[in-house]
Amino acid sequence: SGSLTVGQFAEKLGRPSTDIIKKLMVLGVMATKNQDLDKDTIELLAGDYGVRVEEEVIVDEASFEDEGLEIDEKTAVLRPPVVTIMGHVDHGKTTLLDSIRHTKVTAGEAGGITQHIGAYQVVHEGKKITFLDTPGHAAFTTMRARGAEITDITVLVVAADDGVMPQTVEAIHHARAAKVPIIVAVNKIDKPNANPDHVMQELSEQGLVPEDWGGDTIFVKISAKKGIGIDDLLEMILLVAEVNEYKANPEKPARGAVIEAELDKGKGPVATLLVQNGALRIGDAIVVGNTFGRVRAMVNDLGRRVKKATPSTPVEITGLNNVPQAGDQFMVFEDEKKARQIGETRAERALITERKETTSKVSLDDLFEK
Ligand code: GDP
Ligand code: MG
Repeated sequence: SGSLTVGQFAEKLGRPSTDIIKKLMVLGVMATKNQDLDKDTIELLAGDYGVRVEEEVIVDEASFEDEGLEIDEKTAVLRPPVVTIMGHVDHGKTTLLDSIRHTKVTAGEAGGITQHIGAYQVVHEGKKITFLDTPGHAAFTTMRARGAEITDITVLVVAADDGVMPQTVEAIHHARAAKVPIIVAVNKIDKPNANPDHVMQELSEQGLVPEDWGGDTIFVKISAKKGIGIDDLLEMILLVAEVNEYKANPEKPARGAVIEAELDKGKGPVATLLVQNGALRIGDAIVVGNTFGRVRAMVNDLGRRVKKATPSTPVEITGLNNVPQAGDQFMVFEDEKKARQIGETRAERALITERKETTSKVSLDDLFEK
């Protein structure tokens, strides 16, 4: 669509909506935040703020925010589930991620040296599963706060010798807020003092009632350290995926989110992207958060160069003009000029917002000094 709401327009200018609403009032228009603005009004207002309107940019920006992740059922195909592992500190998240990766990845890929790109894929019984290798609730909440909803399934790790702890409860809240199904992995069952029943009891009190007890939560007993129950866990993940039928349209231009990004001395900005819809290809013109570029090189989680990344695949790319942030969304455009235009607009806007934030911080500090 070619229109913008008052709220969207305000965001583009880096101004509060109330500013725009007040200006409209002066013009004799009573507007709300969700009201659509016509082209003439947008130009008039933009002129007031000393901003030149480029229609194309506004139109495409609107579609960037609103449309892209919608699935076209007619051409949709199943995609691998994207799984996040959460749980209390020391309950075995990292050990589990390592255990899954080592049993499944290196076995099938002779000589494949896994490289840490923030996410990896394994194949279980011929089906792929994507794991986000960024455990920690901060990563999850940061991504969600930035608008990226990338997790399909949460595996909640609870140590059988320790039980439900504060971060266990926090993880349950995060998963519920994101409407993501939870599979419970009762870990460390190899320990002599392991008490899985106690964990089941405590989690039932949190509303996660095991299927064995008449509830609908899947529990799997594992030892991440000894490699016990890992296959069962993967099977349950595939079962949940089968029920939920996660889909995507691989024929579309790619869309997705940044898992992590950094500045590499040699390669420049490097970003791990998770393709959520469409397919990403070498040479694609891309906007990533407030950055843009052309996909120069793509490397998968095994450190191999790839030419194409399909839905639910994590890849590390180079070719961006700057370093994006984790949780930023990306989108491929037909031509590089448009990508550049949008990327630059977004960067400018971010800079304006940043400046304003700095200014207000300074004035707050001033207040406290007095
Ligand atoms: P995280 O903080 O959740 O990432 O926990 P870690 O994976 O770092 O594990 C914390 C400690 O528990 C480490 O010393 C692990 O070796 C140990 N650990 C993890 N899983 C198991 C398990 O299944 N059995 C036993 N005995 N120890 C485990
Ligand atoms: Mg850890």
